[in-house]
Amino acid sequence: MNPKYLAELARRAAPPSMPRSQRRRALLRMAASLAASVVLAPLASRRTWAQPRFNSYPFTLGVASGAPRPDGIVLWTRLAPEPFAGGGMPPENVELKWELAGDQGFRNIVRAGSATAARALAHSVRVELTGLEPARWYWYRFMAGDAVSASGRTRTAPAADAAIERLRFAFASCQQYEQGYFAAHRHMAAEDLDLIVFLGDYIYESSWGQNHVRKHNAGAPYNLAEYRNRYALYKSDPDLQASHACAPWLVTWDDHEVQNDYANDRAEDLDPDFLARRAAAYQAYYEHMPLASRALPRGPDALLYDSYSFGELATFFVLDDRQYRAHHACPRPDRGGSNVVEVCAERLAPERSMFGGAQEAWLRNGLAQTRARWNVIAQQTLMAQFDRKQGPGQSFWTDGWDGYPAARARLLNDIAQLKPSNPLVIGGDVHCTWVADLKPDFDDPQSPVVATEFCGTSITSQGPTQKQVQAALAENPHLRYGNGAKRGYMKVEIRRDACTVALRALDNVRRADSNITTAATFVVENGRAGFVAKT
Ligand code: FE
Ligand code: CA
Repeated sequence: MNPKYLAELARRAAPPSMPRSQRRRALLRMAASLAASVVLAPLASRRTWAQPRFNSYPFTLGVASGAPRPDGIVLWTRLAPEPFAGGGMPPENVELKWELAGDQGFRNIVRAGSATAARALAHSVRVELTGLEPARWYWYRFMAGDAVSASGRTRTAPAADAAIERLRFAFASCQQYEQGYFAAHRHMAAEDLDLIVFLGDYIYESSWGQNHVRKHNAGAPYNLAEYRNRYALYKSDPDLQASHACAPWLVTWDDHEVQNDYANDRAEDLDPDFLARRAAAYQAYYEHMPLASRALPRGPDALLYDSYSFGELATFFVLDDRQYRAHHACPRPDRGGSNVVEVCAERLAPERSMFGGAQEAWLRNGLAQTRARWNVIAQQTLMAQFDRKQGPGQSFWTDGWDGYPAARARLLNDIAQLKPSNPLVIGGDVHCTWVADLKPDFDDPQSPVVATEFCGTSITSQGPTQKQVQAALAENPHLRYGNGAKRGYMKVEIRRDACTVALRALDNVRRADSNITTAATFVVENGRAGFVAKT
């Protein structure tokens, strides 16, 4: 057992303020219970602390909700009185209580119960509610001992056949902690949204970029304890807590939740123990996100992709393009991860998949069956082809969809044939706002526009220069708008006849109190792929 942790337990069992004779007895009791906990380790998950007392406030990481269904929602919190040092919890499981109310003041309690914060899951708590009313706002909070969490607001999805007028959501990605403040989250929390969709790079495992405004408090994580501490650092941010507390989230991951540019079981640095690292990272992700328990990792595997319906107005297909993808084509010598290539036959191989066969088949089936007016494909990165070479010839970055052109053509041809109503692709990853026409063959001017793409900027992560953006716009005519200068998020309002997407842009990501404005607004009309108006 870690000596620091032992010292901490001793401090808790016998605080220095305790009279000496009592301290000795308390320490002996602690030693006995520790010995018992070693002997009873296999039973540890059954031992529960029902009347917890904390030396400091345990709800330091806020609350969250997610995975909204017409009759249910997932509520989340984690007990972590010392969030940056493993949580600071005793080895027991802890029982806590929760309340769900129909009003902000918790006068009308709709549901209440108790739940276990399991030591094995870093004392995180997941309450999966069912039997709720559709399309309804609820408020929730948790109680452990004397401590009460912040309260969160959440909303169930509309009933499957409900003819709803509109859905308002924001989508965001890429929040490198060191490169800026999370002011975008504070503004998101004030937008009056039904839903927030986060498309990956929720944490960054590595320190990079210039002109940091703050620092990671540790080096890159490899094991479970280190990933937990990294999530705790990010989730300690009050603006991030505010956006979690204002609406339910749908989440998926990209690479930095584990390691830059990993693909499936292969690390960028070809680490032979990478699957152990991935297992630790996936578990920490699950412990900190309002995901349903179907996403509980089994070793290095976790089932994240799923679809979510919002009445007959919108269906979201939330995808996982990291866990099952083919390894990068034509990597640099003795490396995994991305490369920029001109000639690379491997890149074009038809069997290369971004989602893996099972997820591809599932998505195809979903697109064939959906009856929603708007179909949102929520994935990680820019889908449109992105030729990086000026003039004749082409060069491509292999970590994005350009590394998997056959899989992209399969998906866009499926969309062309299956004709799901109003396909919208949303993404992140590239730290730049791009709005694109998606076509089965980007090199053929006659290829039809089959879907509209909005790739959202980043919460903080540094993007390309305007010069690079202008060059890409000139080289890739299907890219119709680009903005690499502004950090923020995309705000979307879906109605039956049109969808409006606004780029919400911070004045200055380096200031926690930054103002936000709308840098551009795009309108997509029902029945017509590609935006028709921009203001
Ligand atoms: Fe990123
Ligand atoms: Ca070119």
